[in-house]
Amino acid sequence: MTVDLSPWLDAVPPAAADAIAAARHALVACHENPDADTLGAALGVEAIVRHHGGKATLISTDPVPPLYAFLEGMDRFVADPDDNGDYDLLVVCDCGSLERLGGVLERHRALFERLPRVLVDHHASNTDGGPRDWVDPTAAATCELVALLARRLSVPLDAGNGALAAALMAGIVMDTSTFAHPNSTPRTLAVSAALVASGAPLSEISRRLYRSKPDAQLRLFGRVLDRLEVSDGGKVIHSSLSDADLAATGTLSSHSEGLIDLLAQSETAEVAILFKEDGPSATRVSVRTKPGGVDATVLTGVFGGGGHARAAGATIAAPLPEARTRFLAEAERQADAVSRAATA
Ligand code: 5GP
Ligand code: MN
Repeated sequence: MTVDLSPWLDAVPPAAADAIAAARHALVACHENPDADTLGAALGVEAIVRHHGGKATLISTDPVPPLYAFLEGMDRFVADPDDNGDYDLLVVCDCGSLERLGGVLERHRALFERLPRVLVDHHASNTDGGPRDWVDPTAAATCELVALLARRLSVPLDAGNGALAAALMAGIVMDTSTFAHPNSTPRTLAVSAALVASGAPLSEISRRLYRSKPDAQLRLFGRVLDRLEVSDGGKVIHSSLSDADLAATGTLSSHSEGLIDLLAQSETAEVAILFKEDGPSATRVSVRTKPGGVDATVLTGVFGGGGHARAAGATIAAPLPEARTRFLAEAERQADAVSRAATA
């Protein structure tokens, strides 16, 4: 069965599609602390380039978290390109700005700035806008856009025995929380139908990403949830995760994935925040906000971060206690400005 995606294929920008199809050796890069959307999109771009006779080198500055090991191809990501490699195109996946590439950008800035670039992304805060870029904030996931690119460029979505469809489906499941977030549109669902028809195991992917965890991770969640705090009369809920928590539970930093979404289940909070120690002098901040309330890109934007209106993040160059004090003051100020009709 094939699902008709033709109503949406005209939206694929020819400049982006042509550049990817013409690449002989594409450097395909993910954002730091990679998730299923950036990784799946990169694998999708690799499949397109290969289908058109080229090859791809897949870059992730951070190691791929074990959570994603069930997807085929994760072992092909490397942290660094070869500065003398014969790349003829850079494809940047799911990055709201080039800086989101993380450390690899610092290590190879000349190479990254020299290559012709295609940026495929769905972050509202993305303002890069190069001639070959495709930035569509109405897409639920970058993988939704890559699936349309693939179909537009005649790549069978069932390529690799379903591996391509599974990788792209994983990105959509990740960024919609299995179609639970308000970002799922008819196009998201049509693309997903096409991916399932092409062999993507939707339910298994959803289980792996959202309902299956090592016990150590559940213990980490317990510690962090146990110390949650509310402020601003319940409008802000927050908690913190230190390196000591990781050591005590034997977990990796990537095991914090999902915690913020539990905090965001608070009935009263306009803003849910998780502060994560990132060494002695930096703090990662994850933010979730309620529909119609605080714009998470505005809140994190004050601290140089970004993302989406309902889910965004930032890195603050300060130790956790200081970062928390500064960020909470701004979060409370923005949460106070939200007015809601009283619900009886
Ligand atoms: P998370 O809280 O799950 O790490 O990130 C939520 C969303 O915000 C994701 O879409 C992610 O790409 C984006 N995001 C997270 N951290 C940053 C950041 O430091 N800068 C920008 N521009 N976006 C971020
Ligand atoms: Mn994404």
